[in-house]
Amino acid sequence: KLYNQGRDLKGSIRAYCRVRPFLGGQSKYLSTLEHTEEGTITITTPSKYKKGHRSFNFNKVFRPSATQAEVFLDTQLLIRSVLDGYNLRIFAYGQIRSGKTYKMNTVSYDVFVQVIEIYNEQVRDLLITDGLNKRYPLMLVFSQTGLNVPDASLVRVTSTSDVIDLMNLGQKNCVVGATTLNDRSSCSHIWLTVHVQGRDLTSGTSLRSCMHLVDLAGSERVDKSEFIGDRLKEAQHINKSLSTLCDVISSLAQKNSHVPYRNSKLTQLLQDSLGGQAKTLMFVHISPELDADGETISTLKFAQCVA
Ligand code: ADP
Ligand code: MG
Repeated sequence: KLYNQGRDLKGSIRAYCRVRPFLGGQSKYLSTLEHTEEGTITITTPSKYKKGHRSFNFNKVFRPSATQAEVFLDTQLLIRSVLDGYNLRIFAYGQIRSGKTYKMNTVSYDVFVQVIEIYNEQVRDLLITDGLNKRYPLMLVFSQTGLNVPDASLVRVTSTSDVIDLMNLGQKNCVVGATTLNDRSSCSHIWLTVHVQGRDLTSGTSLRSCMHLVDLAGSERVDKSEFIGDRLKEAQHINKSLSTLCDVISSLAQKNSHVPYRNSKLTQLLQDSLGGQAKTLMFVHISPELDADGETISTLKFAQCVA
């Protein structure tokens, strides 16, 4: 079955899929994964899963050979719309090691930056270097621009490298999961906000907008792994918030009058622009390895709610 809506979606939500290059190692390449530039991913699954052959549509698919520059070029216009007063959210979704963080580390815009993390439904400032736990958890507060986190550090930036430094500091400061020691950013959502404040000198009007870059926690399904204790709790929170994200984005895509923002911190923070001016970009990341095929299918299925 083809999911065609994504292509025709003009306005506010776009879904891209990026396939990471094969990294070698233990697993084989998932040779039944086919992708076209026009935006279709087809996967022929082994018989242990239902139905052999599935296709998924995106606004665009980036092949493994796509460079960071190509990906950036494709999003440039949208990113520029932040300067016209649009709010923009960019999500990186996918299982662990599928390329989410790799993608995030190149996009930037300057002015003021906040980096927070959502871990087990608690919000924490990732830009303070000492006494991290003292200010944990932070409150979400309603203001003119919507819901935000006023107590999180707001750092002025003047260059792309400032933003990247803050992004790296945030990644260094985030919670490290019990089974993810080599992958700091996989058990919490890391949320970087660039606040842009502009002023038109001729008309005197001022603009405030922001761009959110959300590096989501790994999407591995909890039922498949043998998680216990803290890791189980983490995984349940992650699953819950990712499914609420799916609900919110699909109701936005369908222009429903009721959008269920309230069900998780992740989605509450999406309520930033009450005027509904925000544009959302979802990057769905998949791994090309054969042993990741189950997660790859479930990731692509998740993407259907967006596309
Ligand atoms: P995630 O954040 O989804 O867990 P990462 O972004 O950390 O995954 O990527 C996992 C590994 O794959 C890293 O070593 C990263 O450098 C590499 N990688 C990811 N995407 C690409 C790409 N497009 N080209 C080359 N290497 C990549
Ligand atoms: Mg990561």
